[in-house]
Amino acid sequence: MAQVRLEHVGKVYPGNVRAVNDFNLTINDGEFMVMVGPSGCGKSTTLRMVAGLEEISEGTVTIGDRVVNDVLPKDRDIAMVFQNYALYPDKTVYENMAFCLKKRNFMPPANNDDAGFLGSLTSWWKNRQIKRAEIDRRVREAADILGINELLNRRPKALSGGQRQRVAVGRCIVRNPAVFLFDEPLSNLDAKMRVQMRTEISRLHNRLETTMIYVTHDQTEAMTMGDRIVVMKDGLIQQVATPADLYDSP
Ligand code: ADP
Ligand code: ADP
Repeated sequence: MAQVRLEHVGKVYPGNVRAVNDFNLTINDGEFMVMVGPSGCGKSTTLRMVAGLEEISEGTVTIGDRVVNDVLPKDRDIAMVFQNYALYPDKTVYENMAFCLKKRNFMPPANNDDAGFLGSLTSWWKNRQIKRAEIDRRVREAADILGINELLNRRPKALSGGQRQRVAVGRCIVRNPAVFLFDEPLSNLDAKMRVQMRTEISRLHNRLETTMIYVTHDQTEAMTMGDRIVVMKDGLIQQVATPADLYDSP
C-alpha cells in the first residue's frame, strides 16, 4: 500500500495541447479513488503520468515516499489494467499471469500498443528472482480470487471480455503492487458484465486493501465504486468528494 500524491501536475502534449492543468490531489493509503469526467478531460493522461507511461510536464508525482517523475514504470510499484485487456494472444491464461514474474526478454504482441506499455511495466520487474513454486502459488491464488481456475489453459481468444479482464486483473495481483491503476477497464464489456465486474473489483479492493486509482467516464461506476471521486473537466479538477456528498449536492 502507498499514498499517491500529485502536486501542481500538468501535461502539455507536443503542439502545445494542454491536457492537464495544476492537478493537486492526495490519494490515501488503501483508498479507492475514481477519476470521472467526459471524454478528453484529461483522466487518462493523469493516470498515465502516475504509471510512468506519459512524461510529466509540470509538477511532481509521489508514490509512497518517493518522487517518481524520473522513475521508470517498472520501478514505480504499480500495476495497470487497460480498457483493451492487453493480453498476450499466444500465451495461455496461466502464462499471461506468470510471465511478468519470470526472467525473460520482453516481446510485445503484434498490433497492441498497450501491451507494449504493459511489457515495459512488467517484463523487467525489479524482483525477477522469484522461484517457480512461488510464481505458481501466486498465479493460483489470483485465479482463485477471480474465479478463473478453469481457464488457466485457455488462450485469450477463447475467453469472453469479462474473463479477459479478470485475467488482466490477475496479472496485476500476482505482482503484489502498492498501487493498482485502472483505465476504463469495463468500457468494452456489455452492460450485464459491467455490473458484475464493478462488484468484483470493489470486492477485490476490500480484500487487498491496496490503493487503487480508477478512471471512467461512467458516473454509475464512479458513484458505486469510489471511496472518493475526482470530477474533471477540461484538464481541471472540478470537485473532489465522497459519493454521498456528490449525491447530496445539487
Ligand atoms: P480522457 O482520458 O479524459 O478521455 P485524455 O487524457 O485521453 O482524456 O485526453 C486529454 C486531452 O489530451 C484531449 O484533448 C486529448 O485529445 C489530448 N491528448 C491525449 N493524448 C494525446 C497525445 N498523445 N497527443 C496529443 N494530445 C493528446
Ligand atoms: P517455463 O516456460 O519457465 O518452463 P512454464 O510456464 O512452462 O515455465 O511452467 C511453469 C510451471 O507452471 C510449471 O511447473 C507448471 O506446473 C505450471 N504451469 C504452466 N502452465 C500451466 C497451466 N496452464 N496450468 C497449470 N499449471 C501450469
